[in-house]
Amino acid sequence: MCGIVGYVGAQPAAPILVAGLGRLEYRGYDSAGIAVIGSRGAKVIRRVGRVHDLAAAVPERTSGGIGIGHTRWATHGAPTEANAHPHGSQDGRIQVVHNGIIDNAAILRERLAKDGVVLASDTDSEVLAHLIARSAETSLEGAVLDALAHVTGTYAVAVVDVSTPDRIVVARNGSPLILGVGEREMFVASDAAALVRHTSSVVHLDDGEFATVTATGFRTFTGDRQDTAKTPTTVDLTVEELELAGHEHFMHKEIHEQPASLERMLRGRLDDRFASARLDGLRLDLRELRGFRRVKVLGCGSAYYVGQAGALTIEALARVPADAEPASEFRYRNPVIEPDTLYVAVSQSGETADTLFAVREIQRKGGRVVGLVNVVGSAIARRCDGGIYLHAGPEISVASTKALTHMAVGFALLALALGRVHDLSHADGTRILAGLKALPAQIGEVLADEQSIADAGRRLAHARSLLFIGRVRGYPVAREAAQKFKEITYRHAEAYPSSELKHGPLALVGPELPTVAIVPDDELRERNIAAAHEILARRGELTVITHPGVDLGDLTAHRITVPKNEPELDPILLTIPAQLLAYHAARTLGEDIDRPRNLAKSVTVE
Ligand code: GLU
Repeated sequence: MCGIVGYVGAQPAAPILVAGLGRLEYRGYDSAGIAVIGSRGAKVIRRVGRVHDLAAAVPERTSGGIGIGHTRWATHGAPTEANAHPHGSQDGRIQVVHNGIIDNAAILRERLAKDGVVLASDTDSEVLAHLIARSAETSLEGAVLDALAHVTGTYAVAVVDVSTPDRIVVARNGSPLILGVGEREMFVASDAAALVRHTSSVVHLDDGEFATVTATGFRTFTGDRQDTAKTPTTVDLTVEELELAGHEHFMHKEIHEQPASLERMLRGRLDDRFASARLDGLRLDLRELRGFRRVKVLGCGSAYYVGQAGALTIEALARVPADAEPASEFRYRNPVIEPDTLYVAVSQSGETADTLFAVREIQRKGGRVVGLVNVVGSAIARRCDGGIYLHAGPEISVASTKALTHMAVGFALLALALGRVHDLSHADGTRILAGLKALPAQIGEVLADEQSIADAGRRLAHARSLLFIGRVRGYPVAREAAQKFKEITYRHAEAYPSSELKHGPLALVGPELPTVAIVPDDELRERNIAAAHEILARRGELTVITHPGVDLGDLTAHRITVPKNEPELDPILLTIPAQLLAYHAARTLGEDIDRPRNLAKSVTVE
């Protein structure tokens, strides 16, 4: 789930591994460790807590030009030093780091114990080290292949062997893993962030693929020992993008990057002549696009909320029925897959296990899936039949902001392209294009008003519980606003459709439950104002996110105003203050904003 790094080359491995783990900190973790092979065998250092604490525990003169490192997000066994990776065989010859979950670990542990193996941790991962060490195969590659043949589950693993100290053997199945190609040195990582400092040339492994990595190169092969041909690609990531650049938190930096990152995303994708969007990556021609009778969006967490908003945009512009469902639910029922439905999988990391599973299930039954994904070359991006890369740049903060904005814009582009081959007029297409072009500067305007939003955030920080309400297009905005608040402030926040207030939640409203209401300047304005009145009548405190033209009358509310765009695109702008509200509330409370407790950046386990 979390991080893996590996190094083999002429430099001392330890500092490279520790620095690499530092780059992966953003993904969330509870403990970290490294194993370096030197002249006197494997040196293993593990610590609970931050990479910083691990770094302090690594002796300066740790020698050895080969090693592996890990940040752990515990799934089996408490976050203790004994459970931290790397895990070793009993004689310490084999050292393993593992991301993911070994499903049959309990049986394997039992079997090993029966054979007299003393297990040193409570983890599922440790069995790998023993299985590899006990394999009858003579090469490390053979032993890893042999061991993994007994294992079910998801994994990215990296293995070193004291008796062959020139190589790291790695394998991938359902958890990301890439190789970094350097000058007479090679790297292994679960995320490009860990190696951009050293190289931009990377090789993405596929599920079921293995690799042997030495200082001078790499060999990739499949489970049945067939070599595979891989050509390195260039990662579009710079060291600067991974630094705070004067911001106190990555979340703040990423919120402020949105005008520029959106500009970049839209470049080359707006087609003025046909009043449409140019989306070659979808790999769908006009006839195919025209043939879809329904759209189904699948995502998890915030990506699902954006998907819900996206489905509304698609219905509005293309007039094809569209809806969104959590991929995590979809995969556990037996959904009807239709050939004339376009399935859209949404994921920042492109590694979300539940979404990936849903994609596989749809394809297995003959459905067509396109992806809205940020990380280039990720599992979902490669698995889908086509897609729209979000080009949001790296997102370090666990709580997503800019990637979600890019997803929403991705949906607008898709809706426009679908709309223009279905029901949308040239004039309406042109109207949406103008709206999209205006978005980056309008987001800039919202950000310029940060101080007043920060005041509201500071005020709301002290509520024990919050209500977010919005209607139709405003409802997914309210859901995402509540989600962001929960994720980083640890305050209870609940989203409701404004229309549902009187059907239940109004019972909760009172002075101790502040409400944030989304009130756009659209055909539902008066109804939304009426809902706000219902709150005030119950002495509830009210903050309204609205447009300049909206007259709130005698409503005593704290007002946050965003520029007006086209109704279909307004939700994108209405969400920006919600990002800042959550951020400033969490900052007031002194929370660890970029690394909220219990959450990880990409959820590669079920
Ligand atoms: N399942 C393993 C453990 O709990 C690995 C977790 C991870 O991916 O960090 O140790």
